[in-house]
Amino acid sequence: MERAVFLFQDTILVGDRLHLHDVSATALPSEAILGLRVLQKSHKIFVFTDHPDGANEVAAAVETERLQGQLLNLLAQYGVYAQCLSRPSWFSKIAEEHRIDLPNSIVISSRLSDVERAAEAGVSGIYIAGEREPQPQPAQIPDYLIATDIWDAALSVIERNLSHYGKDILVDVERAAMILKSGGVVAFPTETVYGLGANAFDPIAAARIFEIKGRPRFDPLIVHIAALHQVQNLVTELPEPAQMLMRFFWPGPLTLVLSKSNRVPDIVTAGLPTVAIRMPDHPVALTLIRKLGMPIAAPSANRFGRVSPTTAEHVRQQLGGAVDLILNGGRCPIGVESTIVSVLSDTVTLLRPGGTPLEEIERVVGPIQRRTKASATPLSPGQLPHHYAPQTPLVLKGQDLSERMSRRGLLSFTVPASTEGFVAVEVLSKTGDLCEAAANLFAALHRLDTMHLDVIVAELVPEVGLGLAINDRLRRAARK
Ligand code: AMP
Ligand code: MG
Repeated sequence: MERAVFLFQDTILVGDRLHLHDVSATALPSEAILGLRVLQKSHKIFVFTDHPDGANEVAAAVETERLQGQLLNLLAQYGVYAQCLSRPSWFSKIAEEHRIDLPNSIVISSRLSDVERAAEAGVSGIYIAGEREPQPQPAQIPDYLIATDIWDAALSVIERNLSHYGKDILVDVERAAMILKSGGVVAFPTETVYGLGANAFDPIAAARIFEIKGRPRFDPLIVHIAALHQVQNLVTELPEPAQMLMRFFWPGPLTLVLSKSNRVPDIVTAGLPTVAIRMPDHPVALTLIRKLGMPIAAPSANRFGRVSPTTAEHVRQQLGGAVDLILNGGRCPIGVESTIVSVLSDTVTLLRPGGTPLEEIERVVGPIQRRTKASATPLSPGQLPHHYAPQTPLVLKGQDLSERMSRRGLLSFTVPASTEGFVAVEVLSKTGDLCEAAANLFAALHRLDTMHLDVIVAELVPEVGLGLAINDRLRRAARK
C-alpha cells in the first residue's frame, strides 16, 4: 500500500490555461515543481483533470488524454513523475485500483468542496486558498490544513511526518527556532552535512558562529531558505539562469551565489557584495527554517580545520557545550558539501564542485565557466580572490603615516581615548565585545571606504576568540 497525494484539479498546477489547449507553453509555477519533487519521495502523485466542456463525449475524451499527456511530460521535464485521473472518480475505487493507503494520503485543492469530500472519505486535506474562493472564516476552520501554494503544502506534509526522526523531534525543532529567534546558534542536519546556524539577519548571532568554530578568519556563510519567496529579500537581481537552476535543483545540494541586497549583514558574506543561497533538502532543516520564518546562515558544524560532521554525534564531539542546541536528524544522506555556482548577470561559474553533478547543471543552463587557474589557487575559504578589501589604503595603528595622508579615518576596537587628527571614526564595540566587533567589522570598513579618506588607521583587537579572525582580516587589508 502506498501513500498518495491527489491534486484536485489541474488548474492548481497550470491555472486556467490548461483549457487553452496548450499545456506545454504554460509555465508551471516553481512552487508546484519544488513541492511535488519533495512529495513524490514519500507519495504517489495523482493529478485530477477536468473534462473540457462542449464537444461530444468521444472528442472530449481524446482531448482530455492529449492534455493529460502534455501535462505529465511537462512535469517529467522537472523530474516530477505523476499520473493523471479524470473526474469524477471515487476515492474507494482509486484506492483499490492503485493500492493506495487512503488514511495516510492527502488531497490538495483550491476548492473547499473537494477538501470536504476528501474528509468524508477519510483522506486529509490541504486547502490552497485561491483567488476565486475566499479564505474560510476562523470559526469554520475544520480539520484540514491551509497552505499558500503547493510548496507550502509539501512543507506541511513534511512536518506531519517528521516523527520519523524521533518522537520529540518537532518539539526540539520548535525549541531550536525559539533559540534562533533570540540570537542563539543551533546545529542542524541537512542532506549534505550538519550546519551551524544563526538567524541570517542577526549579525551578532552570525558572529557567534565564527567564535564557536574557532575560525582564525572569516568565511562567507551559506544562507539557507525554505521558500522561494525568501530569495527576494536577499538579492538585488535574479538572473534567468538562476531561476532555472532553482526550478531544477532545489531543494538540493546546489548553492547559488547572487548579488546581495543590503538586508544581508556584511558578516554573513564576509564583506563580499554577493550572497550564497541554498534550499536544503532535509525535512528537519526545512521545518526549522519555516518555524523561524527567516533564513538561516550556516557553515558546516565543525571546528576550524576539522572535517565536516555528518552525524549529530560528530557535532557533539567537536562543538558539544558551545552550541545552544544540536538537532539530531540522523546521518546526512549526501555527506558532501553542496556544489556552489555563481550566477552574475547571466554568467554561471563553478566555484566549488559538490553534491550536484556539474553535468546535470550544464544540461539545464548550457556550458558553464570554470575558475581559471589563477583565480582558483587560493581556494581555501576566506581567501577568495574577490574577497572584499577596502579601496582606501589601510595601515595598522602604530605604523608610520605619510604627511600627505591628511584625511584619516580611525577603525577603533572600542571607544578611543582620543580621536584627534581623524575625520571619521568607527567603533567596533563600545563595550569591547569581540562578538559585536566581528559583527560590525565589514560594515564599518565599507562605511569608511565611502568617505574619500586618504588612509584608514585600524587598531588590532585582543588576539583571543574572534580577535584572531578580526586581526587576520585587518592584517590582510594592511598588506594589500
Ligand atoms: P560550506 O563549506 O558548505 O559551509 O560553504 C561555505 C563556503 O561557501 C565558503 O567557504 C565559500 O567557499 C562559499 N561561499 C559562500 N558565500 C560565497 C560568496 N558570496 N561568494 C563565493 N563563495 C561563497
Ligand atoms: Mg566547512
